[in-house]
Amino acid sequence: MGRNQRKKWQGKPCVLCGGNRLAETIEHAPPIIMFRDQQRPAGLEVPACKRCNNGTSELDQVATFLALSQAPQAVLGSNGLSDYELKVTKGTANNSPELYSRVRSVPVCDALGRVVRTAREVELAKETSEKIALWSAKQSLALWFQHTGKIASHRSTIDVEILTNAKRPSDTLERVIREMGNSRSLSTSRNVTSEQFCYKVSVDPNGSFAIIFAQYHGGFAFVSVVKDCATAKLSRKGLQFKVATNAHRGLHLLPM
Ligand SMILES: [Zn+2]
Repeated sequence: MGRNQRKKWQGKPCVLCGGNRLAETIEHAPPIIMFRDQQRPAGLEVPACKRCNNGTSELDQVATFLALSQAPQAVLGSNGLSDYELKVTKGTANNSPELYSRVRSVPVCDALGRVVRTAREVELAKETSEKIALWSAKQSLALWFQHTGKIASHRSTIDVEILTNAKRPSDTLERVIREMGNSRSLSTSRNVTSEQFCYKVSVDPNGSFAIIFAQYHGGFAFVSVVKDCATAKLSRKGLQFKVATNAHRGLHLLPM
């Protein structure tokens, strides 16, 4: 991080824990590791306190592994992997063996039912799902801040649903995502970027809630609803996790 860039955020409030703590860092959402060879274009950098920014590098790796594993072109085994994919895969196997032990090989068939290749299917254990829900909530708050210019307060909630190739969206959720219109990415100057990360944000006209969809490498995705105040009455049907944030605890799961 350059000196000027750091200065830009110093003394601003952290956008991830209600705005009552000062930011000491810049949070990249998505993280640098999510991009091929860590070539991350600029954009979506938000002020964050150390507590909110730190402590998720393992999760950044897990989220990246999920995304790479479930990308449409994903292959199983080390033969077809690039150095970048291999690094993320080995890192996940070392740091998160519980997740890695659940990776299965599944056949991918063409329209005639012929097996054309194998892909990875990752079933998330409860604990991993909860961690990824928190990771998704963090991405959501960064997107909320970017699109509304507001810091979600300590009364905000973030409902999250995680979508993997072992868990497809419901018909209703799929329709909601489709009706959100065109997706965006960080920078359109390199056309590879939207393949690696794309998202949609719909903010209601009063700015009291937003629906967010984000997808990484065309695979792993999440849908979330950020509600800026407890009074925004919205059904959270189909969204499994509920997350809140405050200065004291940072992002945390609420009981179901
Ligand atoms: Zn914070």
